[in-house]
Amino acid sequence: MAYPFFPMISATSVTLAGYYHRLREHGLNDSHSGNASVRIDDSVWITPAGACGDDFSSSDLVECRLDSDIPDNASADTLIHLETYRARPNVNAILHAHPPYTIGMTMDGKRFGPIDLGGLLHFQSVTILDIPFDDLINQYVGSRSTEIAQSISLSLKESWLVIVRAHGVYSAGASLKDAYKRICTLEHSAKIYSISVNR
Ligand SMILES: [Zn+2]
Repeated sequence: MAYPFFPMISATSVTLAGYYHRLREHGLNDSHSGNASVRIDDSVWITPAGACGDDFSSSDLVECRLDSDIPDNASADTLIHLETYRARPNVNAILHAHPPYTIGMTMDGKRFGPIDLGGLLHFQSVTILDIPFDDLINQYVGSRSTEIAQSISLSLKESWLVIVRAHGVYSAGASLKDAYKRICTLEHSAKIYSISVNR
């Protein structure tokens, strides 16, 4: 889909596709994991269910309205994104990824605090939500739970970064660049932490 009469939507959707591709390219996502969205006025453009970061195109994006039902083909996490946008006018982009060091270093469910300067300059610690595995699995292969989506979006209302234990990270930002930067910084800090405790 092209948006010849809406150049801002067209340019932003291409940028969103680019950031979703980067998450995969830099090992922050598996081929088909994660999702990404951006808010433009009362619309939210989000990656569809089953999106692949390797060959994702802006024409694959799904448009949602903040005040309407969620389209069937939108990401399984769409409710998390919409609830966060509704609650936080200062959030215009949300990225979700499965960064391996971050997930590995937070398996104990304790808040994660960076030990390197780069991480400490951006955050003191990051909240970890411990959602039962059976509930998480059911969320993605069974019926979607509104409660799980609301618990994650509730945490995103109070923080820019939220880790779901053994699953992944949700990063909110005033822009796509902000949200991307936070995930990259968190994963880099988790990698440094991992090296320091295993040396
Ligand atoms: Zn995920």
